[in-house]
Amino acid sequence: MCLQVIDTHVHFSNIQSFSKTAKEISYLDYSKAGFEEEFSHADVVYAVAMGLQETCPGSFPDHSAANPMMIDLNHDRPQRLACCPGINPMQLRVDRRKELEQIAAVLSEPWVVGIKIYAGYYPFYVHDPIYSPVYDLAEKFQLPVVIHGGATYARNALLKYSHPLEVDELAVQRPNIKLVIAHLGDPWVMDTAAVCAKDLNVYSDLSGLFVTDSFGLEQVEQNDLLVNQFKKAMVYTDNYSKFLFGSDWPLAPVAPYIRFVQSLVPAQYHQQVFYENALDVFGRLDTLIVKR
Ligand SMILES: [Zn+2]
Repeated sequence: MCLQVIDTHVHFSNIQSFSKTAKEISYLDYSKAGFEEEFSHADVVYAVAMGLQETCPGSFPDHSAANPMMIDLNHDRPQRLACCPGINPMQLRVDRRKELEQIAAVLSEPWVVGIKIYAGYYPFYVHDPIYSPVYDLAEKFQLPVVIHGGATYARNALLKYSHPLEVDELAVQRPNIKLVIAHLGDPWVMDTAAVCAKDLNVYSDLSGLFVTDSFGLEQVEQNDLLVNQFKKAMVYTDNYSKFLFGSDWPLAPVAPYIRFVQSLVPAQYHQQVFYENALDVFGRLDTLIVKR
């Protein structure tokens, strides 16, 4: 049977470091045409882009980007692409009311399926009160919140804010919001496992575990020291309804990344991890996929 795939974590924003990575590391075409070509070839039914913007090239994580941060790689978005608008907490301090109004206006759009918090990239813990009104909106619109977890793709970020253990406190404060720790919180994958095992409302995506090309992924797959930690984290959690497939495209090519994640997850859970869990967490995807 052919595997249906929803990619719950991609990018489609005009970010200089992403374009550079696509050109020099993952060797792919980071454009609308490139997305259409690569995602149809890999049989991806739908993808979710994490909204992100920089006001001048190379400024990510940009403190002056307006809320919410959307997808701006192309003037029109690919058909099978939904979005989790990104939050810039620095701007929330400038004009909170206006910024929150802008966020709320976007959250009612059907192709918006969640919210993205860039923990680590912005210097606040996820349970910091600065985000409280954003979580109120997530509850109101019944949307999940994706939280960057683990290592960061920017030198000026701060790792203490992106440690997955910090999500535990938020999960307890907000039991009605589904939270997704991105990247399995790598390298703190066992901490992510512990939080996913304990908190009913916490999930994790398997995106961005490696920033590389197709050849690099093949090499990684053969290195037990690298892959066993990811398998161990999932085995510890002992609940495959908690893990979602994501690629972090354009940081890795999609079809080879699907094959790589297939090697981490036992075959009997592929349908859940690559498809069903995404519909469970990102409830609005259901309608978008039916409409297609
Ligand atoms: Zn990402």
